[in-house]
Amino acid sequence: MSARILDGNKIAADIRTEVAAELARFTEAGAHPPGLAAVLVGDHPASEIYVRNKIRACEQLGMFSEKITPPAEVTTAEMLAIVDGLNARDDIDGILVQLPLPKQVNTRAVLQRISPQKDVDGFHALNIGLIWTHGSGLLPCTPEGIMEILNRSRIPIEGQYAVVVGRGEMVGRPTAMMLTNANATTTLCHSKTRNVAKFCREADILVVAVGRAAMVRKEWVKPGATVIDVGINRVTDPAEFERLFHGDAQRAEQFANKGSTLVGDVHPEVAEVAGAITPVPGGVGPLTVAMLMVNTVKAAVVRRGARLAAGK
Ligand code: NAP
Repeated sequence: MSARILDGNKIAADIRTEVAAELARFTEAGAHPPGLAAVLVGDHPASEIYVRNKIRACEQLGMFSEKITPPAEVTTAEMLAIVDGLNARDDIDGILVQLPLPKQVNTRAVLQRISPQKDVDGFHALNIGLIWTHGSGLLPCTPEGIMEILNRSRIPIEGQYAVVVGRGEMVGRPTAMMLTNANATTTLCHSKTRNVAKFCREADILVVAVGRAAMVRKEWVKPGATVIDVGINRVTDPAEFERLFHGDAQRAEQFANKGSTLVGDVHPEVAEVAGAITPVPGGVGPLTVAMLMVNTVKAAVVRRGARLAAGK
């Protein structure tokens, strides 16, 4: 048996089409297009790629975007001043601060300074708290994307046993709560959990957000389970590539050309037993960017909608 592939690129494209329609309604009502500000500190090649993808997604949808690039030596006070400036601007509906920030910057203080109404990454304590109380704040993009994959792929959640491996603040923790809100029975595992594999083997829905290449093996997965692989790990060692992707000619060609490939936290062999699985790349990643677009339009509608209705 081979798992059904949950195509994140396709689902993200569907969502972008819906966002474009929502955007058209918003601007037809006379509003200027939603605006996203991305703050990218210093030289961080991976962060640069992430921000470039987000800005490109905005442009493709006809949204306004702006990149602010403070130097690597920026202080916490300077970052807070940048956020204050963006909070005050009417043409900016969403603010994202690309992580990680340099060591000297107090990341928590910066993220908590973003106006909750413009917090399109959904990292502000108020928005996180609203998940706990079933409120309608801005949701963190990756967990929101995971729920979209499950819902749009018609994977039943209610009454299912869901296991989330990884309790990171941006992915694992909020995903566990959102699955619980959707009436799954949820277990959240982490590095101190005894026998993680035992929990994984019971799961109807298994979400893995750890950051360890190919950690979840096929013996860990119940046949027919749905597996959502959040991890993004770069493989550059040819021996490791061979261990992970032996016999995969398409990957081998890509690896030969680029000198690297991506693997998730789930071993590729898991596709032999899972009922449905997200690929890496092309699974959860595209949804993270799509949900940022959803959140930016939502932030604009919530913040400016009432004013538009009043003709101001
Ligand atoms: P994180 O905040 O560092 O959290 C990692 C979690 O994994 C921690 O809770 C840690 O446990 C747990 N962990 C570490 N080793 C473990 C083990 N052997 N067994 C069980 N749990 C273990 O990381 P993150 O930000 O959530 O990111 C996780 C992965 O997702 C990374 O590969 C990242 O690149 C990827 N990611 C992808 C997207 C996307 O769009 N696809 C978005 C965000 C992140 P403790 O809490 O006990 O330390």
